[in-house]
Amino acid sequence: MLGGMSTPAPVEPIAPNDAADTVARLNATFATGRTKSPAWRKAQLRALRRLLVEQADALTAALHADLGKSTTEAYTTEIGSTITEIDHALRHLDRWLRPRRASVPLGLRPARARTVREPLGTVLIIAPWNYPLQLALAPLVGAIAAGNTAVVKPSELAPATSAALAHWLPRTLDPQAVTVVEGAVPETTALLEQRFDHVFYTGNGKVGRIVMTAAARHLTPVTLELGGKSPAVVEPGADLATAARRIAWGKFMNAGQTCVAPDYILAVGDTSTALERHLTAAIREMYGTDPARSADYGRIVNERHFDRLTALLGDGRIVTGGDHDRATRYLAPTVLTDVDADGPVMSEEIFGPILPIIRVPDLDAAIDFITARDKPLALYAFTASAATKRRLASETSSGALTFGAPLVHLAVPGLPFGGVGESGIGAYHGEYSVDTFSHTKAVFDKPLLADPLRLAYPPFTDLKSRLLRRLF
Ligand code: NAD
Repeated sequence: MLGGMSTPAPVEPIAPNDAADTVARLNATFATGRTKSPAWRKAQLRALRRLLVEQADALTAALHADLGKSTTEAYTTEIGSTITEIDHALRHLDRWLRPRRASVPLGLRPARARTVREPLGTVLIIAPWNYPLQLALAPLVGAIAAGNTAVVKPSELAPATSAALAHWLPRTLDPQAVTVVEGAVPETTALLEQRFDHVFYTGNGKVGRIVMTAAARHLTPVTLELGGKSPAVVEPGADLATAARRIAWGKFMNAGQTCVAPDYILAVGDTSTALERHLTAAIREMYGTDPARSADYGRIVNERHFDRLTALLGDGRIVTGGDHDRATRYLAPTVLTDVDADGPVMSEEIFGPILPIIRVPDLDAAIDFITARDKPLALYAFTASAATKRRLASETSSGALTFGAPLVHLAVPGLPFGGVGESGIGAYHGEYSVDTFSHTKAVFDKPLLADPLRLAYPPFTDLKSRLLRRLF
């Protein structure tokens, strides 16, 4: 299954005691203090980078086996993007770990105030199946960069990638500090019963609630990277051919199984008909007349999701696509129009290659449509108007707001990646990852020599009171 490597022995499901043992072992490693050293962190990150470079073929084969990902897509969206995340962390880690000064109010001087980032301890990373490598490893980069030990729980719905991670990570990283636990609900439940110092979950909101409830029992903080329906607003006056091409690219990559894929288009004014034409042309340009034969087009992850998606095809008029084959889990890139805004295709995250177009008369209606629904993970807009950009920025809320192209904000390591409301809690990437996996500790240092604080000690006199009121 994985070219260039022997298939790893099947991993026994973790029993509750094993979960406890695993966490105890990682806690013991953390207690030695070795993960706190910047040299250890960098060595781990470099080793992870080497693995991604040296085993790129094996990892690509696993991603192909799980999701039919093309070699190029596997590289750019999973392997290469994780390498970029590692390189960014290696380049900036020393600066991120430097203590930061805070100014000291006059009345407390002389003194020094600063913040230092300290690792949290042992963290749990629960990954989904759609980008099964990147969404397991990018959080791990942050966990390691911040000096933690970690359990990685890949998705059971991407079994080849899960097996590859279970095989390679212990052979690459400090095995006493990073562990992979494979498995599904029972194994994850056993892990969640343990006390972690942080739980980082990527997946759907229903399970997000289970994760947060389990974490609450231990007062463990969580990051929830969830999904939802990310709209793409298209205004008249925008270059519609380019907008359609970019939307098609972002939507049909990984067969639509991308958390930040444009879920639906809000076609403002009279843009819908031209968009339908341009989207049809863009799909043909990218995947040919028969996308089933394109080596660059992915497959639906399993039959359950295939059945869920094909049931949505009747929810509007098919402009292009609609072909499907259950045996190969193929569903063509599909554009739907004449869609009921309250119908099934608009009531849940589509998470597949179906793109509904909803017509709205003007920008006000588009904003009303967006704000009447859950806050999206990403809001995209294609417009030539600076006023529209300003209005969307100030009148809507979303994890990210991106003009002119979907998905690409993820590739900017200086931007936080995360949701708001139903689309998630917390964020990561670059320095935001180090923040997520660290505690920012306040350190205050007052010399003991002189004692101007005496002013604040009882008994209080009128003079002391007057002075204190001036100082604080
Ligand atoms: P999934 O089914 O692989 O589940 C994610 C993880 O949760 C897996 O590791 C799985 O084992 C675990 N899990 C499942 N049920 C569980 C339970 N009852 N208790 C404990 N753990 C459990 O992935 P999914 O949820 O189908 O992923 C798709 C969703 O994830 C979409 O909503 C998508 O938008 C979202 N997503 C978000 C991001 C992001 O970065 N914000 C990225 C990718 C996907």
